[in-house]
Amino acid sequence: MDIAAQWAGGALTIDLAAIAANYRTLQSVVGGECGAAIKADAYGLGALTVGPTLEKAGCRRFFVAHLSEGVALRPAISRDIPIFVLHGPPPGTSRDLLEAGLTPVLNSVEQLAEWRALAASLGRMLPAVIQIDSGMARFGLTAEIVTTVANDPGMLAGVKPLFVMSHLACADEPQHPANAAQLAAFLRLTALLPELPRSLAASSGIFLGPDWHFDIVRPGAALYGVNPTPGRPNPMRPVVRLQARVIQTRDIPTGQTVGYGGLFTAARPTRVALLGIGYGDGFHRAASNRGRAVLPSHSETHLPIIGRVSMDSLAVDITDLGGSPVSAGTPFDLIGPHISLDEAAAAAGTIGYELLTDLGGRYHRSYTQGHAAS
Ligand SMILES: *Cc1c(COP(=O)(O)O)cnc(C)c1O
Repeated sequence: MDIAAQWAGGALTIDLAAIAANYRTLQSVVGGECGAAIKADAYGLGALTVGPTLEKAGCRRFFVAHLSEGVALRPAISRDIPIFVLHGPPPGTSRDLLEAGLTPVLNSVEQLAEWRALAASLGRMLPAVIQIDSGMARFGLTAEIVTTVANDPGMLAGVKPLFVMSHLACADEPQHPANAAQLAAFLRLTALLPELPRSLAASSGIFLGPDWHFDIVRPGAALYGVNPTPGRPNPMRPVVRLQARVIQTRDIPTGQTVGYGGLFTAARPTRVALLGIGYGDGFHRAASNRGRAVLPSHSETHLPIIGRVSMDSLAVDITDLGGSPVSAGTPFDLIGPHISLDEAAAAAGTIGYELLTDLGGRYHRSYTQGHAAS
């Protein structure tokens, strides 16, 4: 860790070369085009840095959730590359969205009507993506509305649909019957509409197979190193490393409890390292007594997090390191080459997606092209 990193409790290192490599991997799996979901600040990794990295890797379509995210991202991405706002324009903001150089995903009759009205007032065709609900019951036009649109071309007057999309609810469970059901519904509903490019799969959907690829895929999590095939080997390269420094070490006797609530009781004379990272950094309290840390020079020894995770710190049992030198300032990995993001998330009872987006702005954050050894 560099000097500035020592001022913070923890350091988050983001490997941009790994993100670019993951993009190329996903692009090579699909026959069509690979876009990128960089909503939620690129899943917490910094959309203004990750976006241009992906553009350089060949990405030509970006997806954000909110209008505000699109407005923030627009200057970082070449003007001719579309940024799609997944939630569409909030009521009364269609003109703002257009003037910001963004393209809406239209999810409802109301959003369709607003976009149509704006097109009519400007006297020109306005591009948009049409989302349909193929069974997730989240966003998109219902089957009934799709039928109405199919029978009444006036519903799309002034709207230039670029492609039609839907989203899968259970793609991370390949055997789940919802996948085939959603695919069938998507095929049936898109057949009713004018012939348009189609987009169904996000990260896990890509690995369901070519039937799910269509013309455009929209991965997010897999780009950032989350395993899109849970329970199977991760085809993606790890992207983040989360390290925390030792504040102090102490030796405690058998029977001594550690931390808030006395949740952990030492069953043997125990050497404890207090690390300067806690739930205030987005490292979940649910990892209390469950998560693990690794001293990079002793990567084979997984060290248990003991007691409650505090707001600013957590305790690690380092007894098994024996006489290894650990002192104030020594960095430990909480996520890294020997503890995957998915493993750290599972220890906190959640998924890589949530842990990533929670890793807040409190760390010293740095970007690398390939992980420096430390
Ligand atoms: C978030 C999101 C994605 C990306 O999903 P991942 O599982 O992270 O790949 C794609 N499409 C839509 C509509 C989304 O909301």
